[in-house]
Amino acid sequence: MKAEHYVGGVFRSDGTSFPLIAPADGSELGAVPEATREVVDDAVTAAQAALRGPWGTTSAEDRAAALRAVADGIQARFEEFVDAEVADTGRSREFARTVDVPRAIGNFRSYAELLYGRPERAYTTQIPGWSGGAGEALNYTVRRPLGVVAIISPWNLPLLLSTWKIAPALACGNAVVLKPSEETPSTATLLARVIDDAGLPDGVFNLVHGHGPDAAGEFLTGHPGVDAIAFTGESATGAAIMRNAADHVTPVSFELGGKNPALVFADADLDAAVDGTVRSSFTHSGQICLCTERVYVERPVFDEFVVRLGERASALDGYGPMISAGHRDKVLAYYGLARDEGATVVAGGGAPSFGDERDGGFHVEPTVLTGLPETARAVREEIFGPVCHVAPFDTEDEALALANDSPYGLASTLWTRDLSRAHRVAPRVETGIVWVNCWNIRDLRTPFGGVKASGIGREGGEYSLDFFSEPVNVCIQI
Ligand code: NAD
Repeated sequence: MKAEHYVGGVFRSDGTSFPLIAPADGSELGAVPEATREVVDDAVTAAQAALRGPWGTTSAEDRAAALRAVADGIQARFEEFVDAEVADTGRSREFARTVDVPRAIGNFRSYAELLYGRPERAYTTQIPGWSGGAGEALNYTVRRPLGVVAIISPWNLPLLLSTWKIAPALACGNAVVLKPSEETPSTATLLARVIDDAGLPDGVFNLVHGHGPDAAGEFLTGHPGVDAIAFTGESATGAAIMRNAADHVTPVSFELGGKNPALVFADADLDAAVDGTVRSSFTHSGQICLCTERVYVERPVFDEFVVRLGERASALDGYGPMISAGHRDKVLAYYGLARDEGATVVAGGGAPSFGDERDGGFHVEPTVLTGLPETARAVREEIFGPVCHVAPFDTEDEALALANDSPYGLASTLWTRDLSRAHRVAPRVETGIVWVNCWNIRDLRTPFGGVKASGIGREGGEYSLDFFSEPVNVCIQI
């Protein structure tokens, strides 16, 4: 798949480009065009023009039909999407076939359905006596689109996370400019092809490729013609985007980083807790924002848990690479730092050697650490690799204090068979999502997002529709 910009209904790849590298073996997959400020300007202008055209007054029914056409288009090119996502990310075909592409289809279908349950005019109130002495008045609220929405997405779940924003943004009648991660441009380009074929008006969806700082990402998020920004990525990038958007007071929706805790109580089903932690720490080589990097285990079962988790981590096979040489080096630097900070390496701790073409790729070993103080950087900072640190605790209050002692607050997992404890602890963990005896079960209608440095706002179902539209109150004197 050749990466191209898609601006105002036209595919183009003018200007300079940079190489796209396959993380699985380090080979070059192709060239990605780097959007200049002019290309970004053109995309925003095309989006504004689309809003002045028929899309600006399109009915919810027509928008739902457009979303369904996009879902059908992805379905029809399912294997091409799988190929593109596997090549860009190095993940398994199974993951792309069962998670990435079905979720992208699900994102478009679910927002098409949600539009039907949602009145365009809502909250009608007639409040006699509350009109400042002006007599009776009727208030009703209309939801209208925000306008041009900039969407900036990361490399770890490229298609899933970009469509998670594109679908509700379009459902609400906005026009979109997407800038996907420079590491993973291919499924976005394929999506532009699908949207083009689905017949959405020119400029409703635009795609610009390129880097973030002092490049396409920054040009887009600082653009005066952008009416809202929906971003998923690192917390530090979120802060940079916020500073850039501040001049225009552009509203933001942020899904940011995490340092997610798991609490394993002595009364837990230990088999399930070990299984669950293997999944939550090592799925997609730890490159999911919801992955566990801090595990706190009640002391009576601590030793057994560490031995079993270490054995399972050492036996893992077929784990995918880090996204890039740079990210591999960052994760390995944290492994080294953890050793310097006094960690015991229970499993992994380095880079594997396969004796085949994978050695050209960017693999690191699934790693289990113990023995670090809570102040250690490897315990406090997001590593975003296949690694967790396991520490003991003695009381429920101590477990909660450890879990909450973090600048982040995205997701947590509790393992206990005590129902009262689960209900008591869950609301006190400072994360936006708390899983009990499971991990990463997702109902797309539920609120998704983080607290503290892990994000601003919630996505999912009605929560996304609320962000991507604005309530306007109309007051009529009777
Ligand atoms: P990143 O912040 O480096 O990049 C994300 C996107 O932002 C890319 O498209 C990049 O080009 C762009 N960007 C970078 N600097 C920019 C700038 N100054 N202005 C505008 N755009 C800029 O993140 P990443 O490395 O691609 O993704 C991994 C991070 O994403 C991790 O921190 C992970 O926890 C987080 N994440 C969070 C969630 C969530 O739902 N909370 C989901 C997935 C990933």
